[in-house]
Amino acid sequence: MKLSVIGCGYLGAVHAAAMASLGHDVVGIDVDQAKIEALSAGRAPFFEPGLPELLLAGVESGRLRFSTDTADAAGAAVHFIAVGTPQKAGSTAADLRYVDAAVDGLLPYLSVGDIVVGKSTVPVGTAERLAEIVAPTGAILAWNPEFLREGFAVQDTVAPDRLVYGLPPAAADAEAVRTALDEVYAAALTTGTPLVATGFATAELVKVAANAFLATKISFINAMAEISEVTGADVTELADAIGYDARIGRRFLNAGVGFGGGCLPKDIRAFAARAEELGRGESVAFLKEVDSINLRRRQRVVDIAVEELGGSAYQKRVAVLGLAFKPDSDDVRDSPALDVAVLLNGLGARVLAYDPEANANAKRLHPQLHFAASAEEAVADADLVVVVTEWKEFRALTPEQLAPLVAAKVIVDGRNCLDATAWREAGWTYRGLGRP
Ligand code: NAD
Repeated sequence: MKLSVIGCGYLGAVHAAAMASLGHDVVGIDVDQAKIEALSAGRAPFFEPGLPELLLAGVESGRLRFSTDTADAAGAAVHFIAVGTPQKAGSTAADLRYVDAAVDGLLPYLSVGDIVVGKSTVPVGTAERLAEIVAPTGAILAWNPEFLREGFAVQDTVAPDRLVYGLPPAAADAEAVRTALDEVYAAALTTGTPLVATGFATAELVKVAANAFLATKISFINAMAEISEVTGADVTELADAIGYDARIGRRFLNAGVGFGGGCLPKDIRAFAARAEELGRGESVAFLKEVDSINLRRRQRVVDIAVEELGGSAYQKRVAVLGLAFKPDSDDVRDSPALDVAVLLNGLGARVLAYDPEANANAKRLHPQLHFAASAEEAVADADLVVVVTEWKEFRALTPEQLAPLVAAKVIVDGRNCLDATAWREAGWTYRGLGRP
């Protein structure tokens, strides 16, 4: 099929490359010239495992092209909207200006029968509004929320755990969308991927409900960590024990510095803001508490660090290991790890931070920080080491390896990802979150 993907960020670039790998003929459009130049040369403009290979193969096959000119989307049968929906400045609501601009920019190039498919995460009600804007062109709008996880984005796009089609109300239009999307996702559908075909509102809500649930699960265990901290309980053992209950499950139940990234934080805020607009603010008022618990954990890591530094971080050397909001990503949007580095720096600590992939993005946002080229360089002469992103290379660090490098054998494990016993037995002061 001929497809266009408007917006080539973490979602769109992966979607475009993955669709080309499935045999579709894809053009990716973005307003960011540098991004398009990199993508056109088969280079990934951000870190995502598996993406570089897919991009190169796609570009070389001739089935994957990129452009800054929306006119190049003309002729595609299906147009995916994958632009950002960040938090609005000075508000907790979603900023829809990019989605609106992408749809407006596409209008002159739409033909009768084209399908415009929103993938961006939007407040419920957006699809209905946009469908009216698209209707005069004879094209049909649908919403197909995306559930990919950064770090697993390629795999999640090629073989998603489910597909959700938000179909228009008119039966003939719904049928046309369904036929087109079934063809787009034929590879996944033939392997038995579950499909939920529903209306606009449900499709939009599925995405924010899923993120609200995941955020709540993380903040739940972090709330248990807060209680553990004042009672001497161990939240990791607690999580293991409650996780054996299949109704609860152990996944997403790791206490630590909390969630971040370009999705969960802004999505739960936008959901709460939209619910208030709808007069149902109380239904998801708990999401504000979920957000507060999450943000408190960043300060908690800083407080533990200051405590271990003898009450003041001023002029102390602190190695911060991790800046990305999660491992296998270079994404520092609303990253707890980056926040911890910035907070410690603000307290006058001499922070030397290192992330395997996110140094450059962190530096762009916070040029006042200092960055190391390796974990070893970051920890050299450190009075304290903080681990805030659970990269495999940090989990593999051993107390014996770091001991000769640091000034003081003190480690704060902001992700509860290290073996506390091993570090303590090697003579380190080990501090986890929600653990004695
Ligand atoms: P991103 O910021 O990485 O990418 C957005 C891209 O859109 C940018 O490259 C930007 O230049 C481009 N853009 C903006 N306006 C444009 C326009 N008018 N025309 C063409 N391009 C334009 O954001 P992202 O992380 O890819 O997220 C995109 C959407 O997908 C958001 O709604 C997000 O919530 C949702 N989403 C993201 C993920 C994820 O893991 N990143 C997962 C699921 C859903």
